[in-house]
Amino acid sequence: MYAKTLASVLSLFGFTAASSYQDAAVTRCCTELAARLPNTTFARDASQSSMYYETRTSFWSSTEWLDPTCVFLPTTTADVEIAVSIFNANECPFAIRGGGHSAIRAAANIDDGILVSMKNVKDITFSKDFSTATIGAGNTWAEAYEAIEAKGYMIVAGRFGTVGTGLVLGAGFSYLNNRHGLGADNVAGYRVILANGTTVLANSTHHSDLHWALKGGGNNFGVVSHYELILHPSQGCFGGRYTYPHSSIEAVKKATYNYHVKTAIEDKDVHVLPTYVFANNETYGYTPVVSNRNATSLPPSLKAWDQIPHSNQTMKYRKYGNLANELVAGFPNGLVQSHYTFTVYPDEAYFSELFDLWEQFCTSMSHIEGFNGLHTVMPITPHAIAEGIRRGRNALGLERAKPKTTLSVFYLGVTFNNESDIDEVFPAWEVFVRTLQVRAKRKGIFFPYIMMNYSDHNQQVLASYGEENVKRLQAVQKRYDPSLVFQRLVTGGQKLPL
Ligand SMILES: Cc1cc2nc3c(=O)[nH]c(=O)nc-3n(C[C@H](O)[C@H](O)[C@H](O)COP(=O)(O)OP(=O)(O)OC[C@H]3O[C@@H](n4cnc5c(N)ncnc54)[C@H](O)[C@@H]3O)c2cc1C
Repeated sequence: MYAKTLASVLSLFGFTAASSYQDAAVTRCCTELAARLPNTTFARDASQSSMYYETRTSFWSSTEWLDPTCVFLPTTTADVEIAVSIFNANECPFAIRGGGHSAIRAAANIDDGILVSMKNVKDITFSKDFSTATIGAGNTWAEAYEAIEAKGYMIVAGRFGTVGTGLVLGAGFSYLNNRHGLGADNVAGYRVILANGTTVLANSTHHSDLHWALKGGGNNFGVVSHYELILHPSQGCFGGRYTYPHSSIEAVKKATYNYHVKTAIEDKDVHVLPTYVFANNETYGYTPVVSNRNATSLPPSLKAWDQIPHSNQTMKYRKYGNLANELVAGFPNGLVQSHYTFTVYPDEAYFSELFDLWEQFCTSMSHIEGFNGLHTVMPITPHAIAEGIRRGRNALGLERAKPKTTLSVFYLGVTFNNESDIDEVFPAWEVFVRTLQVRAKRKGIFFPYIMMNYSDHNQQVLASYGEENVKRLQAVQKRYDPSLVFQRLVTGGQKLPL
């Protein structure tokens, strides 16, 4: 009865209800895809060695291992056009997977719908003047770096090799942020398949409103098949990672604060990712340190990191691809993951207090099998914000920050082995991370930006970009997706407020 009423109400607005007949629609979509694009579509099966199983479990967090009705692996833009037309015509829910590194359940996978995995869209081409590289959405950063560094260039993208291109639909922390701005600011163009099944190139001269919206807009506007990324000449870097024992933590805290308020601003050719790890009931510092130069030693601006007593370091001259592959060790697929993020103005006492509270929280969870905690804090410098403006602006609302002041983005993550522990860990985690934000608000250092890349499912990312930007994003959505296909049928991930 309820389903019937709902169906008739929704039909008044031209929508169809998600009731039992949705299963029939999804089956129809899977069948039609399989018929029109042979060898791209794999129906649900019980095997653990099938393409279906491999695709539905190729995610960093086990919270993303869902049960789609079928998986679809396009290889070209045209394949995606056909698929989106079929989904739109039949009202089929679907999910879009780039590199599968979101920890949010159903951000890039789906129960009882169609999982579109972009992983076979792998082509990489270069503009004639080598100002940009156009990379298929299925590349990992390690794959992209291998091709791009071979030509003597680098892009502003992820620091860990296995992560995927969805990173530049959020914001994008990179080795090169301090000089060139965020990853999203360095996307010269997005090739996007819209809800009506047509493809547009959104760049600074064509569909510039959509170009702006995608710089932070996630999966709200279309399926991106290719990213045209700005190339920066590069001969590699001097970089690696320092491991600091617990006795060095006070010195690491100091160096971290100095990096945010001084080093990252004054030396734009460096990158530090000051990270604390809690594992096996022990806390230590784990900090990638990078000089973006063809050099065999650290510049004076980074010497402090070497002077802190460390138990291990891997510094050497190398390609970024090599570094990105080294850093990813220790971040395996398939464990339970959750992360949370928020932004503050740098404050030394707050950074220190947060570390202490975080260590206490992690210690209280050490009885959970496989429990690890990780936290880091990353600067967005005034120059990086200005680069975003210079390159045509993004949707993130960072211009609201106080002038000449760095923003500090916290990442807080937990990992453990078993889904059966979720009910114990996640509620406590939620209280913990909210408490940290309240403390920042009380101190007057809170900045209301939530970075999509590290967000949790219950964080309102797009709303955090500010009212004006939300209205602009809604106008772009109305123009390119008038029946809100990407709002209604792609339900996972961070959605634009209605
Ligand atoms: C080990 C690890 C290291 C990380 N390192 C960094 C880092 O250095 N810098 C940083 O900024 N972030 C980093 N992140 C965070 C990362 O940016 C986000 O997890 C990001 O979402 C990953 O993109 P993906 O394509 O791998 O993920 P997915 O989970 O596949 O996608 C994430 C979201 O984007 C959407 N999406 C993906 N591809 C498309 C597409 N082609 N078209 C439309 N929508 C799409 C998906 O639907 C989903 O909602 C890291 C994460 C992990 C787990």
